[in-house]
Amino acid sequence: MYAGHFALGLALKARTPRAPTWAILLGTGFLDVLFGIFVLLGIERTTMTPGRSPGFTLDFIDWSHSFAMALVWAGLYAAAFVKRGRTIALVLGFAVFSHFLLDLPMHPHDLTLWPGSSTHLGFALWHTPYWWWVELALYYIMRARPLGTFGGHAWWASAVVLALHVFNSPWLSPA
Ligand SMILES: [Zn+2]
Repeated sequence: MYAGHFALGLALKARTPRAPTWAILLGTGFLDVLFGIFVLLGIERTTMTPGRSPGFTLDFIDWSHSFAMALVWAGLYAAAFVKRGRTIALVLGFAVFSHFLLDLPMHPHDLTLWPGSSTHLGFALWHTPYWWWVELALYYIMRARPLGTFGGHAWWASAVVLALHVFNSPWLSPA
């Protein structure tokens, strides 16, 4: 859910202007970057299901998207930026972990507590035809908060979010 992740990144940037924007936005999407790499490596599995929103099922994403691994990746990400100061490192670590928190309402029970855990989490908003409208609504609600200097980037950010949706969900038509 790119809209929500980007929106949270922009909100974090507004609160911590000294943290590099690229590092915040990369952080909020970091688990999905790992997911892409792990799928290519065959460590995680996904199946395409055209016609059924969101168009795929995530069969095994425990190494990138489980609760425990989200904490581990957040810790490693924060450690990579510790030279920039503790506050920035903590904010960037939180950016990574926030991905798990925001995925929780969207994912259909494919998030586990740790790799191989049988406990599955997720409230499955993806299975409603309106899931990406929920994302956009969340994005605009968070955008509506005073973001200071980021106002000028709203159109740019919105264009990126829409492009990501189009590239990732070509089978989706507006409901
Ligand atoms: Zn994700």
